[in-house]
Amino acid sequence: MTEPLVSRMRAFGTTIFAEMSALALRTGSINLGQGFPDTDGPAAMLEEAVRAIRSGANQYPPGSGVPELRQAVSEHRAARYGLDYAADGEVLVTVGATEAIAAAILALCEPGDEVIAFEPYYDSYAASIALAQARLSAVTLRPVEGRFTFDPDELRAAVTPRTRAILVNSPHNPTGTVFTREELTVIAELCRERGLVAITDEVYEHLTFDGVEHVPLATLPGMRERTVMISSAGKTFSVTGWKTGWVCAPAELVRAVSTVKQFLTFTASAPWQLAVAHGLRHESAWVAELRGGLQDKRDRLMEGLAAAGFAVLRPAGTYFVQTDIRPLGFTDGLELTRRLPELAGVVAIPTQVFYDHPERGRHFVRFAFCKKEEVIDEAVARLKRLSG
Ligand code: PMP
Ligand code: GLN
Repeated sequence: MTEPLVSRMRAFGTTIFAEMSALALRTGSINLGQGFPDTDGPAAMLEEAVRAIRSGANQYPPGSGVPELRQAVSEHRAARYGLDYAADGEVLVTVGATEAIAAAILALCEPGDEVIAFEPYYDSYAASIALAQARLSAVTLRPVEGRFTFDPDELRAAVTPRTRAILVNSPHNPTGTVFTREELTVIAELCRERGLVAITDEVYEHLTFDGVEHVPLATLPGMRERTVMISSAGKTFSVTGWKTGWVCAPAELVRAVSTVKQFLTFTASAPWQLAVAHGLRHESAWVAELRGGLQDKRDRLMEGLAAAGFAVLRPAGTYFVQTDIRPLGFTDGLELTRRLPELAGVVAIPTQVFYDHPERGRHFVRFAFCKKEEVIDEAVARLKRLSG
């Protein structure tokens, strides 16, 4: 049989997360690759999910999401960011942020349109853009004084008459950068001047460190009306397996995204939605504690990786720390991560797979710190073998 997969998807193969998690399982390695926590979310929120199932929330909820969650999202956006989104018409619940991103791109991009994303970028962006037969235009984030950032001139030069949208992920996976108000202002000006839609991936909105605050792009002047703001419960409440996300945007944009979303999944699972509504309403203290704990884990892993010989970049947010492997005598992160189980019994993610220009990220490897202290310590002890 000839290759059954459509040509536009052939370059994608298996995601690096699936590959590396399978490698960890197969070799019994410590998995600091795929970003998922090894501890549970708030107990009362888990109980809410059980209660929801037991009390009969087991049939199709409305396509836009259960009213309780849409209302909780609306109140949460207003309280946290001063952003008003009507629960009815301006909030759409999705199957994780992944579906929201895909539906937004499929809804807004014609074939041949261009979407700007900052590389290294989360892998689903390129796949969703390819599905839409649009084109990804990558603007590179480079380390400047230990923090990944972009050159405003490069960003401006990337906009063409075909540019439809810009995907903005902050806090940024995989670099850990949290865009400053100044960086967001550059992006916002460009969106306004060139009539671009912003699709913001804010799944790590609560996971920032050292007092750095996450600023939603939609809060900048003139941006609410042109921004599709995407969040997810997975990272906020340590329930990555629940796949519950949401879109907030003006009604016209939500209608467009919903039109596509209804034919991808029609609706998202009901019980999780009720539990996440509880989370948004009652678990902000738990989230604050998670954030503090993660900052300590970040410091612990950074210190350990530095002691093991890596050059370490300090992330201001997310679950992830970037390392430069060259001080250890390695040059290719993909090669190193494929050998890391055998060399050290640890799994990590090669950053170069998130680039259109892989040579720009060849020497970076990403480690996740959303793990128990003892797991981090054991991983570090093993990684010290690399220099020993
Ligand atoms: N965007 C980014 C930047 C991510 O790291 C992830 C992984 N959580 C997602 C989107 C996907 O989120 P979800 O699991 O809610 O689909
Ligand atoms: N967001 C997680 C990460 O970046 C993994 C998501 C996935 O497995 N697709 O590691």
